[in-house]
Amino acid sequence: MADKVPTLPYFYGNITREDAEDYLRQAGMSDGLYLLRQSRNYLGGFALSVAYNRQCYHYTIEREMNDTYAIAGGKSHRNPIDVIDYHAQESDGLICLLKKPCNRPRGVEPKVGAFEDLKEQLIRQYVKQTWNLQGAALEQAIISQRPQLEKLIATTAHEKMPWFHGSISREESELRLHNSARVNGKFLIRQRDTNGSFALGLLHNGQVMHYRIDKDKAGKLSIPDGKKFDTLWQLVEHYSYKPDGLLRVLTEACPHPDGSHRGPASGILSRLKSYSFPKPGQKKVPKHAKIPSPPYLQYMPMDTEVYESPYADPDELRTTTVDRKQLYLEDGELGSGNFGTVLRGIYKMRKKEKPVAVKILKNEENNEAIKQDMLREAEVMQQLDNPYIVRMIGICEAENLMLVMELAELGPLHKFLQRNKHVSMKNITELVHQVSMGMKYLEEHNFVHRDLAARNVLLVTQHYAKISDFGLSKALEDSDCYKSKGVGKWPVKWYAPECMNFFKFSCKSDVWSFGVLMWEAYSYGQKPYKGMKGNEVIQMIESGQRMAAPVNCPPEMYDLMKKCWTYKVDERPGFVVVEPRLRQYYYDISH
Ligand code: AMP
Repeated sequence: MADKVPTLPYFYGNITREDAEDYLRQAGMSDGLYLLRQSRNYLGGFALSVAYNRQCYHYTIEREMNDTYAIAGGKSHRNPIDVIDYHAQESDGLICLLKKPCNRPRGVEPKVGAFEDLKEQLIRQYVKQTWNLQGAALEQAIISQRPQLEKLIATTAHEKMPWFHGSISREESELRLHNSARVNGKFLIRQRDTNGSFALGLLHNGQVMHYRIDKDKAGKLSIPDGKKFDTLWQLVEHYSYKPDGLLRVLTEACPHPDGSHRGPASGILSRLKSYSFPKPGQKKVPKHAKIPSPPYLQYMPMDTEVYESPYADPDELRTTTVDRKQLYLEDGELGSGNFGTVLRGIYKMRKKEKPVAVKILKNEENNEAIKQDMLREAEVMQQLDNPYIVRMIGICEAENLMLVMELAELGPLHKFLQRNKHVSMKNITELVHQVSMGMKYLEEHNFVHRDLAARNVLLVTQHYAKISDFGLSKALEDSDCYKSKGVGKWPVKWYAPECMNFFKFSCKSDVWSFGVLMWEAYSYGQKPYKGMKGNEVIQMIESGQRMAAPVNCPPEMYDLMKKCWTYKVDERPGFVVVEPRLRQYYYDISH
């Protein structure tokens, strides 16, 4: 468990990278010597420092969605200890195997960051006052809501810090910095706008320097081109320790005029009270609830707030055209379709590079129609930004027309499950639930997918699914359904009766397809209605029959599939209902 970490003899708490290097040096720097410390910029994350060849290497262990942990881009594990155990056996990208823990010298305790103590205090105050809880109920509420509470406190706690001066003007900030003792490195942070951008004012040789602090789409804060942080707290801690591009380190907080700053007990708590929890299903926590929330709110299956969208960095990825010079195609197909092939590639950006999937239109005469289809697909994908939907990075027009997308390395769900029969029902539920979250997003944004099937769910990891293939998708404009002009090459076995009978497509017809997708997933990638022709399937549905439950399928999930196969559109649930059902079920089997 991650909460066992503080007791590990090789965990050092909130020490810096340089301190870590000192400890490794003191312990001899043998190859594979390692220690674990708390990440100083990722909330809930850790850092692993490893010695090899007389040098130190540092890896961030991110706390991912679903409370799993992984070295960026690597395999996910249940906790940081499992990450370490795994890398003791497999280097898997690490400089070497982890061989020997570098235990803390006698008398050295894990370092508690200034914020850690305060955080606990604030969490307690918040739960006590906002929900009016005490004793065992208070402890229970803290346990069940901890990740959300920690995030809430950490992202708002700056408001009570002496260095935070709220929404004052640039001129006012200069006055405040000049009007007190002129110490080099004296600083304050002010709020620039309500979109989450701030500015750091820093006194340097009698002059005030201003640095912008921007918030990207994923909510990360950074000084332009600087390191990214989850909170202002961590940013200040970092720059107090090293200048890292600033003219000097931050030394002391600029006082508020007339000592007007509010103490820990007042300001922040009143602000926090009016705060609603981020995400879980966009629902608000009832303000005066005695019991913190219904179970589905206590559990946040995927903290999408901490997921970094590739659109997050405004410098890099705002554009939808990809320069051919930045795109490197690799040998080996990921897959193919009637438009051509999908290759793996690398997209080299200014600051980083990203593995991508590139859909390449085959160069043939008379393929104008396919080209238009591909451009339409790109147009739809460009409008979508959700962790459970494959993101488009851009279009590249070069020797061929190419659609550059996020890579989902493990490929289509049905094939993955056919190859991996050991995957647990819980794991399948997790993936299916993620698909329902992506579909709920489409429903909220009035998009119909029209080709939802296990073949179009791609896996990034065994625990991370994304919806793909928007070739048939449509944005619903004025009505809640799309009327097709005629029958095309349709995936009949996934289509609801109204699609076949009236050519009508809506988010509810996607729900029908989702039921078939669930059936495919719980049957480990079998073909639905095996051996039947399209018209036989239609007759079967019209006569009121439905597919039987897959072997070993949890009854609750088969029940949900049948709900998705409700004949009448109006009686069929939307994703707004399906998604919480899955979330609840996944919660129940996980606890
Ligand atoms: P599509 O026509 O979009 O379904 O793509 C055809 C095949 O290419 C898929 O079944 C996948 O095997 C592969 N593919 C498509 N997009 C991606 C992606 N973003 N990442 C990995 N593989 C992909």
